[in-house]
Amino acid sequence: MNSKHSISKKAILIAVCIVAVAAGVTYFVTSSAKDATINEMNEKLNALQQKIDDYEKGTELGKEQVDKLKKHNENIENTESEALTPETATQVFETDGVIVVNKKHPVPESYAPYENPEAVEHLKELIAEAQNSGIDLDYSWSGFRSYDTQAGLFNSYAASSGVEAAETFSARPGYSEHQTGLAFDLKASSGALYRIDDASYDYNTDWVAQHAADFGFIIRYREEWQDTTGYIGEPWHLRYLGADLANKVYEANEPLETYLGVEGGNYN
Ligand SMILES: [Zn+2]
Repeated sequence: MNSKHSISKKAILIAVCIVAVAAGVTYFVTSSAKDATINEMNEKLNALQQKIDDYEKGTELGKEQVDKLKKHNENIENTESEALTPETATQVFETDGVIVVNKKHPVPESYAPYENPEAVEHLKELIAEAQNSGIDLDYSWSGFRSYDTQAGLFNSYAASSGVEAAETFSARPGYSEHQTGLAFDLKASSGALYRIDDASYDYNTDWVAQHAADFGFIIRYREEWQDTTGYIGEPWHLRYLGADLANKVYEANEPLETYLGVEGGNYN
C-alpha cells in the first residue's frame, strides 16, 4: 500500500515534471515562433510601406504623364465624335484653358477676337529688347487675320506655289492660329518675314527663339515638328501663351500639341 502510494506519488511527480518540461518547451517553441512571426510580419510591413512610398513617389512623378495621356485620349474622342469644320464649329478648341488651333482643330468661321492686347503689349517689349540686342526686327508684324483674310491669303499662295506646297506653310481659312489673335509673324526691317530663307537660322542660337518665352511666346513651328504641327519650320511665327506656360513649353522642347496632349498632324 505504502509503496504503491509512493510509486503513484513518484509517477505524479514525474508526470508533473514531464508536463512542466513540455509546457516549457512548448512555451519556448511557441514564443520563438511568435518572435519569428512578428519579425516576418514586420519585414513584410516594412516592405509594403516601401512599396507604398515607391508607388506614391512614382505616382507623383507619373501624374503629369498620366494626366497628359488622359487628356490626349479625351481629345481624340472629342475630335473623332465631332470632326468639326470652321463651318460647324461653335467655339475654339481649348484644353486646360489654352486655345489650340491646328489642322485638326479649326476656328469657327465667325470667330474674330482681333489682336490680343496683352500679347501685343509683350510683343512690343520683345521687339524693343531684340532691337537693343542688335536684332533686325520691325514693329510691322502680321497678327490677327479673319477667316476671309486667311481665305484670300491661302488662295493666293495656292495659286502661286500650288495647293500642296501652300498647305505646308499656310493654313486653310478657319484653321489659322492667326485667327485667334494670339499668333504673330515677325518681320525684318526689309518687310520680309523674320529669317525667312536664312540658311544659317538655328533655333538653338537665334535670339528670338532663345528669349521669346520670357515675353510669353513660343516658336510654334519647327522643322523637326512638322508631322505634329502640320507646318514647316517658321522662325517668324510666334504664339502667345503667357510667360509661365511659354517657359514650360520651351523647357519641354516639344510642340505645343505634344506638351498639351492634343491631336495634331494633317487635316481630317
Ligand atoms: Zn504665322
